[in-house]
Amino acid sequence: MDVRNCKKCRKLFNYIGGQPICPSCLADLEDEFQKVKVYLRENPKATMVMIAEDNEVSVQQIKQWIREERLSFTDDSPVAIECENCGTMIRTGRYCKQCKDKIANNMNEAIKKPTAILAKDKKPTREKERMRFLDKL
Ligand SMILES: [Zn+2]
Ligand SMILES: [Zn+2]
Repeated sequence: MDVRNCKKCRKLFNYIGGQPICPSCLADLEDEFQKVKVYLRENPKATMVMIAEDNEVSVQQIKQWIREERLSFTDDSPVAIECENCGTMIRTGRYCKQCKDKIANNMNEAIKKPTAILAKDKKPTREKERMRFLDKL
């Protein structure tokens, strides 16, 4: 059994699957998250510091929720975090749109390559088939 100290309350708990805090703190955190969500609906223009102070959560925690794309903000919200790749200010997730596109493109390239080879291989067989067809005539 893997027993660790909870990162928040320092109590010992059974460590299961990557969560560094105990189940009761996890439940508290979920309550805080719901509170922040309601708060943002009522205060769409609140700054990061205002959200943190009014809800008694850390700025670090709010950023974490933003990176997890659990919190989203309207266009006139002053809240923003940095893109992990280029540092541009963004409102949700880990990367800005440009970096996301770049990452998506890289992934598409990786997927495209083997299909391009397959397409090339297909042509001669079709050509052969046509020849066979002509032979029959
Ligand atoms: Zn705890
Ligand atoms: Zn970026």
